[in-house]
Amino acid sequence: MKRRLWVIPALLCMLCMTACSAAGTAAGVENGHDGRDSSSAGNAEEGAQDPVQTDFFAMDTYMTFTAYGDRAREALTLAEEEIRRLESEWSVTDEDSEIWKINHSGGQPVTLSDETAQIVRFALGMAEETDGALEPTIYPVLTAWGFTTDENRIPGEEELRSLLENVGYEKVELNGNQITLPAGMELDLGAVGKGYAGDLTAELLEEKGITSALLDIGGNVQAVGSRPDGTDWRLGLRNPYGEGSIGVLSVSDCAVVTSGDYERYFIGEDGKEYGHIIDPETGYPVDNGLASVTIITEEGKKGDALSTSMFVKGLEQAQEYWRTHPDFDMILITEDGQIYLTEGVQDRFELNGSFGNMEVHVITAD
Ligand code: AMP
Ligand code: MG
Repeated sequence: MKRRLWVIPALLCMLCMTACSAAGTAAGVENGHDGRDSSSAGNAEEGAQDPVQTDFFAMDTYMTFTAYGDRAREALTLAEEEIRRLESEWSVTDEDSEIWKINHSGGQPVTLSDETAQIVRFALGMAEETDGALEPTIYPVLTAWGFTTDENRIPGEEELRSLLENVGYEKVELNGNQITLPAGMELDLGAVGKGYAGDLTAELLEEKGITSALLDIGGNVQAVGSRPDGTDWRLGLRNPYGEGSIGVLSVSDCAVVTSGDYERYFIGEDGKEYGHIIDPETGYPVDNGLASVTIITEEGKKGDALSTSMFVKGLEQAQEYWRTHPDFDMILITEDGQIYLTEGVQDRFELNGSFGNMEVHVITAD
């Protein structure tokens, strides 16, 4: 798929998140707008502080950061610098990054910075906890499908089988800050890096005294505190079937992270859609009836790891996982128009008018 195909949804998502939350257009959403009318920014918050906003492209995605308060401008400049610093450490394609060094180490040990060792340890831990649904060494398979170059193709079964021999988080050795990756394997933080970067950036803003900010990292949203008037942020949940948002989620001080096929996919010569999230068991893009998975949790890194891995697990297994690890909330949207949400968010999520007749199921602990 050509990059512009996913850039458009990314931009729409960015606008939608911005308008539904930081810009205070919740009323617009409730009146049936899809939340993309950023021109109404501020109207709903008459007399409130004006937001300061910055947009930029980093980590292969569009980011929009919004903050309130006297020191917001200065804090956002630092936040953008922080994202660029983390990108240069974790990029899989930048020859100066630590991840590049690991991937070109030929099986020799590499010593990592504390920060990179921490995120790699987290990714390997989540891979184990999700029984390999999160697979930080899936990169060679992604490359075979062309997702790393945008020259998409459908690899043969034999090719995938042989590539999968070089995939497996359990083969990575991490002792303290020293990592050893067997030759032929590649590590990629694509499924967790943006969430972790959101956590670190939110911490930085808090250290700078910011108590109200919203970081939209390519659709992953990290909410610092609440809106300046103390009410919840109202985030538009991206419509996985098309443009705009499907509903509104009211939250404060947490991360809201979504994974879905609509973010990046291509249509093969066989006319089928192939998405960018790979089932590590088969080497094929996930095709299990889920359209998107949204995780609501305290930490962005956890939300990011879980959104990707619950998408891989599918509707039934994701619910089973949640019942044994109920320290997060999730909203699963199926391709056939149903919504499954955990009980903790049932009162926080409202469908937009045009989606009002979707079937909603509440996932309970028993
Ligand atoms: P996300 O947008 O957080 O769901 O992450 C998706 C990205 O993670 C993809 O674009 C790939 O770079 C990578 N990826 C795809 N499948 C997997 C998987 N099963 N485990 C870990 N990373 C994956
Ligand atoms: Mg993820």
